[in-house]
Amino acid sequence: MTIDSYQFDTLAVRAGHQRTGENEHSEPIFTTSSFVFDNASQAAARFSGDDPGNIYSRFTNPTVRIFEQRLAALEGGESCVATASGMAAIMAICIALLEAGDHLVSSRSVFGTTTVLFDRYLPRLGIETSLIDMTDLDAWKAAIRPNTRLLFIETPSNPLTEVADITELADLAHEHGCLLVVDNCFCTPALQKPLQLGADLIVHSATKYLDGQGRIVGGAVVGDKQRVGEEIYAAIRTTGPTMSPFNAWVALKGLETLSLRMKAHSENAIELARYLSDHPAVEQVYHLGLPSHPQYDLAKKQQSGFGGIVSFVVKGGREKAWRVIDNTSLVSITANLGDVKTTITHPATTTHGRVSDEIKAQTGISEGLIRIGVGLESIDDIIADLDQGLSA
Ligand SMILES: *Cc1c(COP(=O)(O)O)cnc(C)c1O
Repeated sequence: MTIDSYQFDTLAVRAGHQRTGENEHSEPIFTTSSFVFDNASQAAARFSGDDPGNIYSRFTNPTVRIFEQRLAALEGGESCVATASGMAAIMAICIALLEAGDHLVSSRSVFGTTTVLFDRYLPRLGIETSLIDMTDLDAWKAAIRPNTRLLFIETPSNPLTEVADITELADLAHEHGCLLVVDNCFCTPALQKPLQLGADLIVHSATKYLDGQGRIVGGAVVGDKQRVGEEIYAAIRTTGPTMSPFNAWVALKGLETLSLRMKAHSENAIELARYLSDHPAVEQVYHLGLPSHPQYDLAKKQQSGFGGIVSFVVKGGREKAWRVIDNTSLVSITANLGDVKTTITHPATTTHGRVSDEIKAQTGISEGLIRIGVGLESIDDIIADLDQGLSA
């Protein structure tokens, strides 16, 4: 059998690692900045590209390559380039594929910092962004211009778990000569394969579920050989936001348990969502696994699980939301998610704090909103902790 014929869980454990002469069983960490050449002529051949070996760890590193090949295999992509963070992955796509005069259309419901990048920094490079409602296909059609190059979505979205129809948007993008970029952070390839649904490029924050244990900051872009393997790779090796070998090692070991963890996160999340739905202090619950979610059917068709994010609005605005958060004792008050430890966040004053009030209002980031990144503790303990917070 070749590695390509293996199934997801096998690839997650095995893909990308070719043993060195030491015959190590676990993947090695190559902490070296540069690599040595046999002679001057080999050095010249490496630099000219005639010999594809390693030169310098800003360009390639064997440990980083294992992570890249493993994630590419899991997403079903030809190429993957790892980056220092999820934001570096998004920035690398923009730097590599856009130029002054270009336009991109993005869902308004994307990670707060992504909105800031599009809204504040890309205009300085002469690149304009239109932010629109992700679930409104007519809005996408109306926003595309002759100079539009990219459509950008995050599905499911953070923190309100809105879903975009990836195939529909990929078709629309291709009709207009654009690329569809999907931030696949919340599902990971264990629950959703955007490339198979027609998307062109995938962005990851490896900081979240890929590592899965809150230990590192990292990111990646996955897609075809030309755009990712050559153009985006060239932009990253030149601008510098490469992933460190140690972080790559942590993330690649994380991939080994990805599908087990995503299953367990999803199971805990649906139980918490059901509990919150019945609580009198809760106005609304956002979780894709609830049949009352307006996009339940689309999520069921497009994803193989509903993921670990549960958001809810408490009656009483910011004051009540902060009281709930401050009266929990088990769950961690932190802005991260995708961790085995359950996290609780008040988006309006943290992750989305730098987003304008207008966009906050348009995207439903209200003062009473709380986001839970449901972890892998016993669900009874998680529910008991939130119950304590809600009754305060
Ligand atoms: C965290 C996050 C990012 C940014 O990733 P960093 O690793 O923090 O740079 C991008 N998209 C989504 C959906 C995220 O949750």
